[in-house]
Amino acid sequence: MRKSIDLSVALGAVLMLGLAPAAPIHAAAPFSFATVPGRLPKHILPVDYTIAITPDAAARTIDGTESVTLYFKEPSATVVFNSLNQKLSSVLFDGKPVERVVSSDDQQLTTVTLGAPARVGRHTLAFTYRGKIETIPQGLFAQPYVRPDGAQGLLLSTQFESTDARRMFPCWDEPAFRAHFSLSVTIPSAWKAVSNMPAARRIVGTHMDTVEFARSPSMPAYLVHLTAGDLASISATSGKTQLSVWAVRGQEGYGAVALANAQQILADYNEYFAIPYPLDKLDSVAVPGGFTGAMEDWGAISYNDQTLLVTPSSTADDLQNVFSIQAHEMAHQWHGDLVTMGWWDDIWLNESFASWRGAAETDLRHPNWHWWEVQDESKEGAMRADARVSSHPIEQQVTDELQAVNVFDPEITYDKGQAVLRMLEAYLGPDAFREGVRRLLKAHAYSNANSADLWNALSVASNRDVGAIAASWTEQPGFPVVTVAAQCAADGSRTLSLSQRRFLLQGQDASSAHWIIPLQVRISARGTAQPLLLERDGQTLAAGHCNEPLSVNAGAVGYFRVQYEDTVLPVITRQFSELPSGDRIALLDDQWALVQSGAKPLASYFGLVAAVGDDLNERAWTQIADALGTIEFDERGSAGHAMFAAYARAALRPVFDKLGWQPKAGETPGAQRLRRTVIGDLGAWGDQDVLAEARRRFAAFVKDRNSIAPDDQSVILSIVARDADAATFAQLHTVAKSARNETELRRYYTALMQVRDPQLAATAVKIAFSPEIPPQAESLRLWLVFALSETHQQLAWKAYVDHLDALLAPHQPNGPLYIAQYSPQMFWRSVPLDQLESWVKSRLPEEMTADLARGMETARFKLAERTLLNRAADQYVAALNPGNSARGASPGTGPTADFIRSIQGGHK
Ligand SMILES: [Zn+2]
Repeated sequence: MRKSIDLSVALGAVLMLGLAPAAPIHAAAPFSFATVPGRLPKHILPVDYTIAITPDAAARTIDGTESVTLYFKEPSATVVFNSLNQKLSSVLFDGKPVERVVSSDDQQLTTVTLGAPARVGRHTLAFTYRGKIETIPQGLFAQPYVRPDGAQGLLLSTQFESTDARRMFPCWDEPAFRAHFSLSVTIPSAWKAVSNMPAARRIVGTHMDTVEFARSPSMPAYLVHLTAGDLASISATSGKTQLSVWAVRGQEGYGAVALANAQQILADYNEYFAIPYPLDKLDSVAVPGGFTGAMEDWGAISYNDQTLLVTPSSTADDLQNVFSIQAHEMAHQWHGDLVTMGWWDDIWLNESFASWRGAAETDLRHPNWHWWEVQDESKEGAMRADARVSSHPIEQQVTDELQAVNVFDPEITYDKGQAVLRMLEAYLGPDAFREGVRRLLKAHAYSNANSADLWNALSVASNRDVGAIAASWTEQPGFPVVTVAAQCAADGSRTLSLSQRRFLLQGQDASSAHWIIPLQVRISARGTAQPLLLERDGQTLAAGHCNEPLSVNAGAVGYFRVQYEDTVLPVITRQFSELPSGDRIALLDDQWALVQSGAKPLASYFGLVAAVGDDLNERAWTQIADALGTIEFDERGSAGHAMFAAYARAALRPVFDKLGWQPKAGETPGAQRLRRTVIGDLGAWGDQDVLAEARRRFAAFVKDRNSIAPDDQSVILSIVARDADAATFAQLHTVAKSARNETELRRYYTALMQVRDPQLAATAVKIAFSPEIPPQAESLRLWLVFALSETHQQLAWKAYVDHLDALLAPHQPNGPLYIAQYSPQMFWRSVPLDQLESWVKSRLPEEMTADLARGMETARFKLAERTLLNRAADQYVAALNPGNSARGASPGTGPTADFIRSIQGGHK
């Protein structure tokens, strides 16, 4: 599964929360079936399932027959397995009726009692059952959609991770219980069906056909897949593997880009992992709506169609998302599917690994996307979340499997994990790292593994004690800031003194946390980076000459911050433009975070901005634009706003003047994205030239929908929508209603939510909840409310509270996580925080107290940050330009729009 959620800032109430004691750091034991956590007894193993289902989509029911070959390791008179919303009948054990069958939906368990204990060895349990088709993406669910011709369609698809296979068929629904699955499904004759394995045969009936799929290799139940409906596909091969992209009929042609991507990625992974993809086929299934993101079911990956299909309305960003999400899901085919984590504690291993490998593959195949620089943004998101006192370790104990869904904390589970793996790879070297990965997969194929298994494999491959280094990053929360001070000898030679402490955006660390930190040290602007382990405080290092710039996080590869003291920072600032782009990005990120935490003055950051140089690196300038946007947003409504907006415009205007409106031949996607970022911000901050040109372009767009390229539509429509009067708003609404597909629909309706006029905003809310949004785009409504909250806090809060269940339904089972994280993130300005906290608390299960604390820490930090930044910015700008009076600036898109863009990627 993949979530790309990037909560924008975190921080907060240290004293109120109390401080966690230092976590014991120890390398866990390797995977063992006997000791892996779980609820089901371990003395009975499922070996082979034969399952036949007949779903009735209209009645929302499933009729099934199931036969499971079991292996008893000990004699037993009871058989316990998972079930939910099923009624079992005709239950036979080795062909004979059983004594008793008790199913508990509360427990999600069925217990079968036998007349006498069954002996050690193989047995067969068989039954028929009546189950339920779900209306939300948990289990087998029905997904309505509107076809391009306007007709209603319906398909069935599955989403099982973490604990929802049991909703389609009774089973041993824990990741360590691997078995073979032989699935068949009876469907209307006009339908097609896709599962993990190819169809072995299709038995044609009068109105209904039965599709029998081949027997799967040994795998966990949560990876079983079924999609059925009026589907069509396109196919190709990669080596011996048949690749197909499936979509609702008529849309399959838009899978051409994904199909070509899959060919390339599969070939690369066969080589990288040194184990050929083990199934005969790999399907990519585009589901219209249902869930946001993608799921790595073995041999049949399902995607929300917005993350797989490329239409003429798609943007360059969409193309990048498609490739990178495919690369993530396909990495899971090895790491997740061939080798599965033993228990949900180690879900990070699946997700971080897939994210790291997916990013590396994207970087390999698209070097001009500068993908690791793009990933710096999600790493920063992880570091903001992880700089809270209430943050949690990558490895989290999961005692209740039904809470497993809540450990998919995207910033930590996906993004921090990815960054930590990348840092380790850089330290060990790519060859040793790959060798370790190959060893792990080979040793645990068709089985399970945990973190200790990975560290052991990497240790053997690299001849280093990787577990000792890794434990400090995965078993305790947070990350360090490395302080770098210099001493100069009489001959000008420099000695660095290095120390560390936990980095927090707010509050004090009482845990005495300590990390073993893999630094990448570059002495002088053109030097080669050298790995160095920082293990103890006060470690010293001979580091060239005192007038040379340097970096101890060269290439921004590390997951830590660096605080260069006054004996070093001025030298770096003077020669900042000469540093490689990664080094500059790391320093901008760190200095900004130090400013946010109150450790360094705003002037130290703006000093770097002024010295950043002329090459318009996208990530560096996006970082700067985001920082300016954060201050501008915080300044809204304050006396200093106009002055700061003028400063921000002046800072970005030279970048815009170089980039202009028109893309140039040979530009990277990054340069084009930077152009849109700068235009969007200048528009939001009231640059009159940009506003006038955006309006001119929109007027042309109303007459000719091809006059603005898909890439530029969001930014131009948002600028126009912000200051729209009733007539312009009506024009925008007409554009939205004429969207030719869901990609355009999402773009145009999101733009409508930017409107500043309160009466028009009230109309926008009504539109957001109207039937104009088709069922496959149901998940959009939540993002529309969040988009509205940027300018209309009270209106958006009321809409959110009044429609909470409907807004979250398409995002289940992540609803509780969303409530805990997003309510404080989006509505910290809407209601007093104590009221907000009680509201959130009343909607969460007790187990999520820590999630509530994290969310509220973010809200408290946002309030404190606003005070800190406003004061700092007012002083800074006044000192620069006494007596300056800025022309009127208007509120803009700011961080909320960035946030929404970042979370719409959904779950992978
Ligand atoms: Zn994933």
